[in-house]
Amino acid sequence: MAAEVLATAGISVTVYDAMPSTGRKFLQAGRGGLNITHSASFDAFIAVYGQAQSWLMPMLRGFGRDQLQQWVHGFGIDTFVGSSGRVFPADKKAAPLLRAWIHRLKQFGVCFEMKHRLLDIKGEGHLLFKSPNGEVSVTVDAIILALGGGSWSQLGSDGQWVTMLSAKGVEIAPLKPANCGFDVAWTDVIKDKFAGQPLKGVVLSFKDSQDQSHSKKGELMITQTGLEGGLIYHFSAVLRDTLALHQSLTIFIDLMPDYALEQLVILLSQPKGTKTLTKQLRTQLGLSPQAVALLYECLPDNSIKTPVLLANTIKSLPIPLISTRPINEAISTAGGVVCSELTERLMLKKHEGIFCAGEMLDWEAPTGGYLLTAVMSTGVWVGHSVLDWLNDRNTNSTSIV
Ligand SMILES: Cc1cc2nc3c(=O)[nH]c(=O)nc-3n(C[C@H](O)[C@H](O)[C@H](O)COP(=O)(O)OP(=O)(O)OC[C@H]3O[C@@H](n4cnc5c(N)ncnc54)[C@H](O)[C@@H]3O)c2cc1C
Repeated sequence: MAAEVLATAGISVTVYDAMPSTGRKFLQAGRGGLNITHSASFDAFIAVYGQAQSWLMPMLRGFGRDQLQQWVHGFGIDTFVGSSGRVFPADKKAAPLLRAWIHRLKQFGVCFEMKHRLLDIKGEGHLLFKSPNGEVSVTVDAIILALGGGSWSQLGSDGQWVTMLSAKGVEIAPLKPANCGFDVAWTDVIKDKFAGQPLKGVVLSFKDSQDQSHSKKGELMITQTGLEGGLIYHFSAVLRDTLALHQSLTIFIDLMPDYALEQLVILLSQPKGTKTLTKQLRTQLGLSPQAVALLYECLPDNSIKTPVLLANTIKSLPIPLISTRPINEAISTAGGVVCSELTERLMLKKHEGIFCAGEMLDWEAPTGGYLLTAVMSTGVWVGHSVLDWLNDRNTNSTSIV
């Protein structure tokens, strides 16, 4: 996005990337349906960024939900709003959009240098890369770092830049998994039979480290190692931080949120005839096989499964979380270059002429299109910042991304 702003203004731009092709994580994001932004009102939208909302606000006002959709439409690609308010390109794919975007950037004169790993920035505007042809050094007027977070390193964002910038005295908040899964000590029955199965229309509740209650209806996914899915991602920041503080955290799942406890007790008290309990839970209550398995897993050993005990457990199934999944598996990362190290233009205060954008900055947000919107919004902002900065310096030569 920064390259586009700069190249449109006639600045010479080169995009360097360590990977053999550009936008690999963007493409990966499109695999499950490219959720480009969210249709929430501005106030609701900005609120998801928590503490970072104050400094992200001007950027998202300048280029946010609406501008991003217009930008997609500019490629002749329609967008639609899904049932949860998430916005997608018409075909939900990233590849056609990325292809058209790179084509347009090349038409604007942007050069792409792949397989160039940034090793260091030496003095003003001097970059050192490792390339297939050995080390390459380049001198430029401005540098924009958009090196991503620290997850899915196989797609390029390996977080190794943290060492480089820390060595330059830049404070970096430790990278942590965001929108991540959590480990649960499942029995083999759950691992073998129910990994990959969703729990739909359930309510997840828990208390954070300040004893504040959180609760939301949605979908969970059972995995080999624990739980992930929309509901977990939604709360992953507070779950992660509470877990880090207390070393343990139990979440509670209401498997049948549309039924009151008393209704369930009445239903479960009806004579079940020759039906097994499992059959009763499946047919009378409509519980999925995975919900029944989890219920059994959480019931005390050798307990007499009275209607009251069953109903209480269905309404509040306790699941102890052990830890977050490793950062490399997370959809995004929290932490990064802290706001106090940056000017309003997102230039490093300690390093004139080096700007930062995207996930490498210290903000986090749940899935829902909020990630790409902030990434692209900071990219646009930095593009304009570099233009202003170059104008201030009265320079009109090269720039680098
Ligand atoms: C599975 C998955 C699904 C997702 N789905 C969505 C979604 O639907 N909606 C959404 O909003 N977000 C989604 N995201 C998140 C979104 O893709 C990221 O937030 C976004 O791509 C971050 O953009 P970025 O430009 O900051 O960093 P990245 O896209 O990570 O790009 C960083 C680039 O820097 C390069 N790089 C790193 N270090 C160096 C170096 N030393 N030298 C040279 N190059 C380097 C990397 O190769 C990489 O190309 C998803 C993420 C994943 C993993």
